[in-house]
Amino acid sequence: MAENDYYSVLGVSKSSTQDELKRAYRNLAKKHHPDRNPGSKESEEKLKRINEAYTVLSDPEKRSNYDRYGTADFQSINMDGFGDLFSQIFRGFGGFGGFGQRGRAGPPPGRTLRITIRLTFEEAFFGTEKELAFKRKERCETCGASGAQPGTTPKRCPTCQGQGQVMRSMGGFMTVAQTCPSCRGLGEIIDSPCKTCRGTGLQSKRMELTVPIPPGVEDSMGQRIQGGGDAGARGGLNGDLIVIFSVKRHKQFVRRGLHVYMEMDIPFSVAVLGGDVDVPTMWGTSKMKIKKGTKGGTILRLRGKGVHAQDGRQGDQRVRVKIHIPKKPTKEQKKYLESFAEVFD
Ligand SMILES: [Zn+2]
Ligand SMILES: [Zn+2]
Repeated sequence: MAENDYYSVLGVSKSSTQDELKRAYRNLAKKHHPDRNPGSKESEEKLKRINEAYTVLSDPEKRSNYDRYGTADFQSINMDGFGDLFSQIFRGFGGFGGFGQRGRAGPPPGRTLRITIRLTFEEAFFGTEKELAFKRKERCETCGASGAQPGTTPKRCPTCQGQGQVMRSMGGFMTVAQTCPSCRGLGEIIDSPCKTCRGTGLQSKRMELTVPIPPGVEDSMGQRIQGGGDAGARGGLNGDLIVIFSVKRHKQFVRRGLHVYMEMDIPFSVAVLGGDVDVPTMWGTSKMKIKKGTKGGTILRLRGKGVHAQDGRQGDQRVRVKIHIPKKPTKEQKKYLESFAEVFD
């Protein structure tokens, strides 16, 4: 096993159970804990590797990916190669950003919204278009987000003088800033609230938009669009909008980046003698050449059968060959195999 192999990092065998993994992880994590090794860069590095290995191996799906393809990296939380996919789309809806300043005491920011876009494996592979509908709070049009009935104006809060917070003495020289109890931090008091929004300054709006999905997005990929969430009340900042893709798994294929991976049984005879086999791909059936003497576990490549990205890059399909051994050979097969054995042994 390679030195950086996750199994050897944890000092366990490939067939170890989850319990064995956990035990090995706990022991090592204790051993390399910074409290026991103050200032040791080496221990710090080790601990990082141990955590990484355990994160992968303790997750059955990641572990199986790792066992099959030597990597668990089937999940990415970024939008590599996709740039600012959503900002462009959502910006068209206007009103993002709010007009407050971050860090200022005063109206609280709007809620952050999360949207999951569910895609089938095929949709993520070939790209598609999705209709999204969700509700978002926007500034009330009647009162312009002030919350006060048109013609009236909110009064400055007399308790905090519009600051939104009051200083409270803790005894001695100690004072702490506290959200103003009279205006709940808003700095103003409304005598006649706006009828449309009942003084909240916000209105719920249904957003409907069509989002083009380029080919090649991956599960868990996402993007945070600053200011794309609910508007803040009374001039507070907008919350953010987080859009995440959830891609359904395929029965046969696994995707990583632009590549598609699969395992395939080939007949024992083809592995020995060589030949062509039909391989299913996302683009239809493809012929794949098997060289004579191909061993089980060999990874063969079908060029260009992966994702075709918008920027022109093309992924491959990688096929991990498994040799099919007949479990119950027929009489005839038995006869041939016996003479085969005689010739070879
Ligand atoms: Zn209003
Ligand atoms: Zn106040």
